[in-house]
Amino acid sequence: MATEIALFTRDLRVHDNPQLAAACRADVTVPLFVLDDAMVAGPHRSANRLRFLCESLADLDASLRARGGALVIRRGDWVANVARVAASAGATRVHVADDYSRWAQRRLAHLDAALGEGVELVRHSSLTVVPPGAVEPGSGGEFKVFTPYYRRWLEVAWRAPAPLPKQITLPARIETVPLPAIAELTGNPCSPDLAPGGETAGRALLKRWAASRLARYGDLHDDLPGDGTSRISPYLHFGCLSAVEVAGRLRDRVGSEPFVRQLCWRDFYHQVVATFPDIARRDYRPRGDVWLDDDELFEAWAEGRTGYPVVDAGMRQLRREGWMHNRARMITASFLVKDLGIDWRRGAAHFLHWLCDGDIVQNSSNWQWTAGTGNDTRPNRVFNPLRQAERFDPTGAYVRRYVPELAAIAGAAVHQPWRLPADRRPAGYPAPLVDHDAAAAAFLARRTGGTTGTDPTVS
Ligand code: FAD
Repeated sequence: MATEIALFTRDLRVHDNPQLAAACRADVTVPLFVLDDAMVAGPHRSANRLRFLCESLADLDASLRARGGALVIRRGDWVANVARVAASAGATRVHVADDYSRWAQRRLAHLDAALGEGVELVRHSSLTVVPPGAVEPGSGGEFKVFTPYYRRWLEVAWRAPAPLPKQITLPARIETVPLPAIAELTGNPCSPDLAPGGETAGRALLKRWAASRLARYGDLHDDLPGDGTSRISPYLHFGCLSAVEVAGRLRDRVGSEPFVRQLCWRDFYHQVVATFPDIARRDYRPRGDVWLDDDELFEAWAEGRTGYPVVDAGMRQLRREGWMHNRARMITASFLVKDLGIDWRRGAAHFLHWLCDGDIVQNSSNWQWTAGTGNDTRPNRVFNPLRQAERFDPTGAYVRRYVPELAAIAGAAVHQPWRLPADRRPAGYPAPLVDHDAAAAAFLARRTGGTTGTDPTVS
């Protein structure tokens, strides 16, 4: 009787799960999740993500039980626990999803070393649509620019979805610990409007969204109040949805091209980080920046009190929902780096604390893109918050939704409350922290050493 382990990490689903499907081909299967101490108490601890994780684990357990199995839970040191379960169950194989961050690669290497003689660690490619390394430029290494990567990405064959297991046979006796209570794990309060975790919720969301919004994604994805993007990012982060299944199911539908292109950005950054694992710490393309260290400015930004309504709306959406619209992420990140002159790493850490989809690879890469130290081909691009607001929140509805102090101001006037007559200016809403034009010019002067950069583009 062969026993194999399906080791869940951030692939919390039963549909298209190559690890689970492979382990279920054995006579006996142990579906295992180890709640890693590093996740519960480490520096990247996030109450929002822990809550989402608990809900996803409960949902996964229910799906496994419906097939005769159950989720075996352990808590503590990840490597030691997996090795112990493998030894006590007499498992010959541990199936796991490959992952590409430095932390994940190290953890997998430690596990490989810790598994006893005769226990094989089998890594499956299931995190991305196209795994890092499958598409490479002629010169080797990673693609540094998105568009050529995208062209090649579209040409390669995608993995076929793995079959849904019909029946799971657990070992006759296996000890498990109960799922932790959400409150015990999260400690501090979560965002009040956090999305519910789990594969069931993720699949329902995707189905609803694809039926009503996919066809118009190209027109709507930048519309801040329209909220027309899929919001599937937390489900992709925890693997409640499979990226290849999502892309494969939607790619032939009307209007899907710009959406599938966004999924390619996710793969693009994974292949960058697979060759540049220092992405969270080191500039991918150093620009010699000298950052300003101003805690008061940083706190004002983090709490949504910059006096620029569209920036503040984004930052408050982040706290309220544990998620932020992509356009708002770009505006708020650019403001921190290029208007306030603060190191992108501080902003990235704040996002990582709150974002339900917070992901070391995607978050750091996107922050570096915005800071101009990453893969943006126009590194000195500066987002003008007023122009962005005019284009992407022309009626001001997004700002009114998230900034209650401004809710009574009608129309686009909400974007410049300082221009209102004194008696109509909202009480309690701050004046702009900085003058955008002057601040952006000062940033560019610092970056370029006083010479005009090659492309001081203003968006
Ligand atoms: P949709 O527009 O519906 O797109 C579908 C999917 O495509 C997304 O779920 C996501 O997986 C992928 N995608 C879309 N845009 C990007 C992008 N720019 N980069 C990589 N993948 C993308 N995304 C994260 O998943 N985790 C993060 O921690 C994260 N941090 C970010 C920080 C900053 C400063 C910026 C500018 C962007 C960040 N993003 C991050 C990328 C993007 O903002 C989110 O993926 C997107 O807003 C999620 O919403 P959605 O699911 O509705 O996206």
